This record gives sequence, structure tokens and C-alpha cells, in this order.
Amino acid sequence: MKLFLAALIVIASTTLIAQQKPIPSTKADVWKKEVMTNIGNRAKDAQVMVDMVFSFAELGFQETETSAYLTKILEENGFTIERGIAGIPTAWIAKWGNGKPFIALGSDVDCIPKASQMPGVAYKQPIIEDAPGHGEGHNSGLPLVILSALEVKKIMEREKLPGTLMIWPGIAEELVGSKAWYIRDGYFKNVDACIFTHVGSNLGVSWGDAGNNGLVSVEFMFEGSSAHSAGAPWRGKSALDAVELMNIGWNYKREHLKPTQRSHYVVTDGGDQPNVVPSKASVWYYFRERTYEDIKAMYDDGIRIANGAALMTQTTVKHRLLGTAWPGHFNKSIAEAMYKNIQTIGLPTWSNEDQQLAKAVQKLVNAPKKDQRGNTIDGLALKLDTLNGPVQFSWGSGSDDIADIAWNVPTVVLRFPSNIPGTPGHNWADAIAMATPIAHKGVVTGSKTVAATLIDMLTNPKIIADAWDYHNNVQTKDVKYNSFVEPGVPPATFLNTKIMDQFGPKLKAFYYDPSKYKSYLEQLGIQYPTLEKK
Ligand SMILES: [Zn+2]
Repeated sequence: MKLFLAALIVIASTTLIAQQKPIPSTKADVWKKEVMTNIGNRAKDAQVMVDMVFSFAELGFQETETSAYLTKILEENGFTIERGIAGIPTAWIAKWGNGKPFIALGSDVDCIPKASQMPGVAYKQPIIEDAPGHGEGHNSGLPLVILSALEVKKIMEREKLPGTLMIWPGIAEELVGSKAWYIRDGYFKNVDACIFTHVGSNLGVSWGDAGNNGLVSVEFMFEGSSAHSAGAPWRGKSALDAVELMNIGWNYKREHLKPTQRSHYVVTDGGDQPNVVPSKASVWYYFRERTYEDIKAMYDDGIRIANGAALMTQTTVKHRLLGTAWPGHFNKSIAEAMYKNIQTIGLPTWSNEDQQLAKAVQKLVNAPKKDQRGNTIDGLALKLDTLNGPVQFSWGSGSDDIADIAWNVPTVVLRFPSNIPGTPGHNWADAIAMATPIAHKGVVTGSKTVAATLIDMLTNPKIIADAWDYHNNVQTKDVKYNSFVEPGVPPATFLNTKIMDQFGPKLKAFYYDPSKYKSYLEQLGIQYPTLEKK
């Protein structure tokens, strides 16, 4: 019996070793240097992918061209694609490799309404008036991780390194509309670690509580009955009155909420015309807070106030969940490994033209003199960010549904310097740098960082073991993930269809054609940089 047990232990430990064999760091360092050189040599590929996705300019849930283009590249490079995941037509996962570690690489791909903007031009000049545009820079992150994966894959093949790579897009991040659904439907079940990337204006990573807010995105739909607004207004029950009363109720409620909350709304349906009492009206709220419990309390308050408004107006109300995100919390061991690579790689070398554009844009948007951490804003970043740990206190801020992945799988978010410091965010001015050498250089730098960190994970099993130790024994020790997405709640894939139906055909005329033009700037006839209107 003893012998049998001993044999079992030997078998068990050899299986483990066979799966995750540590490789001498000298060897790993050689591969890292090789992969960084190779990515540096593929700057042209980075530029083409970044410019191409920029030109598609697709809103959340409508990323059809973007997904077709990126999956084609992955398919041609040996990845197997599963399309339409989690009931989202534009969502997919691409897998390559065998066995452990199983590492997910992702980034968002959707853009911002009314953010159409000529790149490289330091004043407002839309490509198409009122059309969507990459005013959040989500055209850069997936090209970045694809480049890393393709170069690391070559080394894995040559050196016969076990491991599986999964590339995936954050669909409809601006609506926080997909990642909690990916988790609910099990797409990250066996993933060992996730590296996510998001455009920023420095090269950095952080771990612990990110200090931001989570949210629920909920639409309230009221129904009353119509009547002639002048002939028989006493017979009408106005759904628009209910929307207005709900908003008044919520705005009174603000006084009694914690200062960390953020809540905002848009009226999605305010009726058809003034002489018809609106029988239908809807309002769409984002309720944001720092913890699950506080978000849940706001959600419940919202429902109560909506019911009160319905009671006052003799209308009925229904609500539906359109999106959600947990507050962010990121992994320590992966962030530390990544930060070592960040220090080796450093920031890109900016040209005079890059700096001229950055300073002109900062003047244009009236950028603050310092960022929220007190760093001076003056042109592009020249000094690396430090590795930041948990935020001790925060007044709250925006949300990203990458948090829903991060509460289930050890995850970090690499911020890479493809944009200009001091821009307002979710704005056409945030699109100016996103198809210029600034974006291209930031992507190559970020891609090297992801690739080097992948080599670390493939060669040093301790990084992932420590990552799970942190995940299980620190991050989720007292806080347990509980999704707002209940079984049966569908993703809100109908969002943005009307806007893309309107602008899709017009945007097509401006898709980047790399067979004819060296860059999208060249295709658009833009002198880089264009600082003033002629
Ligand atoms: Zn974003």
C-alpha cells in the first residue's frame, strides 16, 4: 500500500513537472530578447492592423468588420476560431496550442458615438460628421496582443513548449456588455491567467484594488396610453411624465448616496411628437459604486423609484439589464513579472512630430497641468510609471468589465502609451493620435511587454502558482464574485444597430487600403502633424 502511494505521488509529481517544466532563466532571457527583436521588426504589421481597425470605427455589438478582419489574421496563423460566443454575433475566441498553462490575451475593440476624427490633425475635423470613431483608442489593443501571440507561438513551436493561447475581444466595452456574459457562459473556466491590454499614455501595470467603480446599466421602460394632447389630454397617461418623475426622484436620492457613487442617464425614448401623449417612454441609467453591495443597493433604489413614478402616472414599468461591471482588482504576481519587463523595454522614442502633435492636442483640449497622481502633463510621456499597488482610498471613477474576468481568473491590464496624456476620454480628441506614429509605437512597445511576460509564464510556473495564491487567499478571501447577470438574461446585442445602419455604408468608403497607401494618414491626405487649420 505504502509503495503504491509512493508510486502515485511520483506519477502525480512527474505529470505536474511534465506539464509545467521550469526552464533556466538564462534560456528564457534569450527567448525574450529574440521575441522583442522580432516584434520590433514587425512595426509595419502593427501599423496596418491599428490603422485598419481605426478605419472600421464600429460601435459596441456591431464590430462585424473588425472581428472578420482580426479572426482572419489569426486563422491564417493556425488559430482555431469559435465565433458568436455567449450569444453575441461579433464575439469570438481564437485558440492555439496544447496543454497548460492556458493563457488568455484580450483587449476591447468597440468605439465611441460621434467621435469620428481625422488622425494627426490637432483640431476638430470629423472624417464623417456625427459618425462613430475611435475616441477611446480601442483600435490598438487587439493588434498588440495578436502580434505578441504570433511571435511567442513561433518560439513555442520551435522549442516545443507546452501551453495554450486564447485571444479574445472585449465586445461592447463601452456598454460593459460582454465580459460578465463570457464568465457566466464558462469561456474562462480553465484559463490559468489573463493578460488584458488597454490604451493609455504611459507603459504601466498595477495590482490590487484599482479604486474604480463597478456598475449596472439598466433601462426602465414605461408604458401608459396615448390621447390627443389638446383634444383630450385628461384621457392620456404619459409614459414621458413617468420618465421625468423617475429622474426627479433619482436626483433627490443623490443627496442620500455616498460620495463615491456615479449615476447618469439618457432618455432613450421620449415619445414621438408633442400632440400625442407619449404611450411609451424609456430612460437608461448607469448606477456606479465601489462595491457589489453598494451597486446592488442603488439598483434596488432605482427600481423602487421607477415603481413610484409609475404609480404617480398610472403607467406600468419594466426594466432590463444592459450591461454590468465589477469594481477592478488585479493580480500581484503577474503585475510584478510584467513590471520587470516594462523596466527593460521602456517608453518608445518619440519624434519631434509626435511631440508637436501631443502638445498641440493638449492645448486644444485645455489639458490639466498635472494628472491625478501629480505627474506633469507636457507632451508625450518621457518617464515610466511606477508599479502601483492597491488604492487605499478613492472617490470612485469609471468602470471596465475586465473586472468580471479578473474576479474569476488572475488578470492584469497592461496600459500602453498609444495616446496623448491629458485628453478628456470618450471624446473625438482622443481619436487624434490613434492612427499616427504615436499609436503605432505604443503598440509595438506594449506588444513586446506582453510577449516577454508570456515567455515568463511559459518558463516559470511559479508566476502562475503565485498568481492563484494571491487570487484565492487575498483577492477573493472575503469578497466573493456574484454576477448581476442572472441565467437567461441575454446580452444587449440590439444596441447601436440603428446608428451603424446609418453610418456603416458611409464609413465603408473610408476603410484603410494598405495595398495602395503606406498609412491611413497617407490615404486621408494628411500631413503629419497638421497643427493648425489652413
Ligand atoms: Zn476602454
